[in-house]
Amino acid sequence: MPDLLQRTDVAIIGAGPVGLFAVFECGMLDMRCHVFDALDMPGGQCAALYPEKPIYDIPGYPRIDAAELVDRLVEQAAPFAPEYHLGTAIARLEPDPEGFVVETAAGSRLACRTVLIAAGGGAFGPTRPPLEGIERFEGKSVFYLVRRREDFRGRRVVIAGGGDSAVDWAISLAEVAARVMVVHRRKRFRAAPQTAARLQSLADDGAIELVIPYQLQALEGADGQLSAVVVADLDGRTRRLDADCLLPFFGLATDLGPLAEWGLTLDHHHIAVDPATAATSRPGIFAIGDIAAYPGKLKLILSGFAEAAIAAHAIHPLVHPGQALHFEYSTTKGLPGS
Ligand SMILES: Cc1cc2nc3c(=O)[nH]c(=O)nc-3n(C[C@H](O)[C@H](O)[C@H](O)COP(=O)(O)OP(=O)(O)OC[C@H]3O[C@@H](n4cnc5c(N)ncnc54)[C@H](O)[C@@H]3O)c2cc1C
Repeated sequence: MPDLLQRTDVAIIGAGPVGLFAVFECGMLDMRCHVFDALDMPGGQCAALYPEKPIYDIPGYPRIDAAELVDRLVEQAAPFAPEYHLGTAIARLEPDPEGFVVETAAGSRLACRTVLIAAGGGAFGPTRPPLEGIERFEGKSVFYLVRRREDFRGRRVVIAGGGDSAVDWAISLAEVAARVMVVHRRKRFRAAPQTAARLQSLADDGAIELVIPYQLQALEGADGQLSAVVVADLDGRTRRLDADCLLPFFGLATDLGPLAEWGLTLDHHHIAVDPATAATSRPGIFAIGDIAAYPGKLKLILSGFAEAAIAAHAIHPLVHPGQALHFEYSTTKGLPGS
């Protein structure tokens, strides 16, 4: 992005599924968007955390892999020529006579009439287990997400955690890994009952080893390559698990980061919005998707899609003041160039 004050209608912060669909909804109402994401690819959690997992609750798709959903959202937004600024975190926001100026962490600035925050859990990062020297292994043999299941083919994998991600990946990687060991400090898993039952049956068949109740204690290895994970039970008895990789799944640290400094009313680390408009407590700033909070909120992609449509209609009078907004179906309006 050039260092000058380019101007756009809507600055969308976050290129997750909801931010991407907001480009479409804003485009249908003749509003141009620039889209920023700290990640170097579009798709948010879908792309970064579970690209190969099937999603079953996107209307009209009985099953769609997360990566394919992202591709289709990018395709759907394309006729509206959004400008993407990937690998670009938004750090600051200043008022401007005609709206706002958003500033990236690197200092580039963009003037916009309105700001639409679709930042998910904020600039998200994994919860790192407190193991001495873990950073030396990160990216080489300790991973906080699975980008490609094939990377684990034939490897001895320790998965740590007791929630959905830990259990889902244990089941999935058991098909390709040489060995899968699941370390959890409790005997019960917090995953969905059906998935937990599947885990238990794979463990009964010897396809997965459940190392419970244990927790991570230390890592062994050299030059970033793990050779073993040391675990301890609640009485301090230790075990050494020979392993090539460790996947700690202790959830995402939800850090709103700079967004928390923007004077918006917050609700338990989320941004409080009026569900009728997606408006935040600051006029001209809207929030949708996982980051937006209101009574009855469901953190689902489909809720975020509906919020994108609601926000676009609420933003329209700010971008096109005095212009009547005639509600139209896409079947009536068509797409640019169609
Ligand atoms: C394992 C797993 C399985 C799931 N399965 C389903 C499912 O089956 N069905 C379903 O509906 N939902 C599912 N979800 C939830 C779904 O992924 C989220 O509801 C959805 O991703 C929210 O979309 P979003 O666009 O609001 O936010 P996100 O996808 O979180 O994207 C937000 C983006 O904003 C960016 N960002 C944040 N702060 C900044 C900043 N300051 N500057 C620039 N960029 C910023 C982030 O980098 C991120 O890319 C699942 C989630 C997980 C983890």
